[in-house]
Amino acid sequence: MALEVVLGIDIGGTFTKIGLVDRTGSIHFEDEISTRGYKAIEDFIVALHAHVMGRFETLDFSFNLLGIGVGAPNGNYYEGTIEHAPNLDWKGRIEFVRLMEDQFHLPVVVTNDANAAALGEMLFGDAGQLKNFLMITLGTGLGSGLVVNGDVIYGHDGFAGELGHVLVYDHGRQCGCGKKGCLETYVSATGIKRTAYELLAESNDDSEIRNIPFSKLKPVTITSLAEKGDPIAIKAFERTGYLLGRALADTVAHISPARIFLFGGLAKAGKWIIDPAKQSLEKHLMPIYQNKIDIVPSALLDKNIAVLGAAALIWKKLDHKSLPDKDRD
Ligand SMILES: [Zn+2]
Repeated sequence: MALEVVLGIDIGGTFTKIGLVDRTGSIHFEDEISTRGYKAIEDFIVALHAHVMGRFETLDFSFNLLGIGVGAPNGNYYEGTIEHAPNLDWKGRIEFVRLMEDQFHLPVVVTNDANAAALGEMLFGDAGQLKNFLMITLGTGLGSGLVVNGDVIYGHDGFAGELGHVLVYDHGRQCGCGKKGCLETYVSATGIKRTAYELLAESNDDSEIRNIPFSKLKPVTITSLAEKGDPIAIKAFERTGYLLGRALADTVAHISPARIFLFGGLAKAGKWIIDPAKQSLEKHLMPIYQNKIDIVPSALLDKNIAVLGAAALIWKKLDHKSLPDKDRD
């Protein structure tokens, strides 16, 4: 019998990653194409379709493709749209699911990348038995997927769970969303860089970061410098973790998660970000919540969680549909 698979697609600002994923979360084929260089979304979808179909012909196993799950910035699960995504070339409100279904003739679902990551953790990672947890993705920005009572929270308009844009400081750093002082301007790959340079300006401490231009500094470099004892690198993690923990304490008061997963480039810093975040979380929690909630790296940290999450999204929908009515929630 042909292997049953879905196509997981993660649309990023620069690259779009794709993978054929079976029900157990095994990826049987992975590839990527550029997201840039297509004036209209229609051109991108045609190119994506041609690329995927071309590559499928080269595969040496037979499979039955059941559907397509997509994680995209500002992807709206309810509307099937991508709306005003700041990092994509296509502006406004895009009827993404309709265009994809017209091209691929398969069921298509879309959500934002952090919600997809939360679903990935639930279906294929360490959140299997958890009904309430939080997924924080620390990439260029900060994304969040909130799972409550076993479901991703979408809210009335499909855009719930934008923890990256809660206010940290009045009149704080300029955010890409137009507001000032959003959490992701402090806690993200870009945020920790801004903090590192702020620290350089505030102190005379010796630091290798003084010799690295802003555009060249990567979170992984800050991590390796922290490991060598670089005081600016260590302080940058402390400040970043502190603000993350403080913001998470508020989110705990809203949804009371059992666990908080971190994913993304900055999550790979491990204890450097997690230890100060935990300390700050405990410090800012009401006593009823204290010493109950763990902050851990995602179990899929070294895998393509975005593609797995997008695949989980469509698997969840397909499997849900095939359940008898009485078993649906
Ligand atoms: Zn913002």
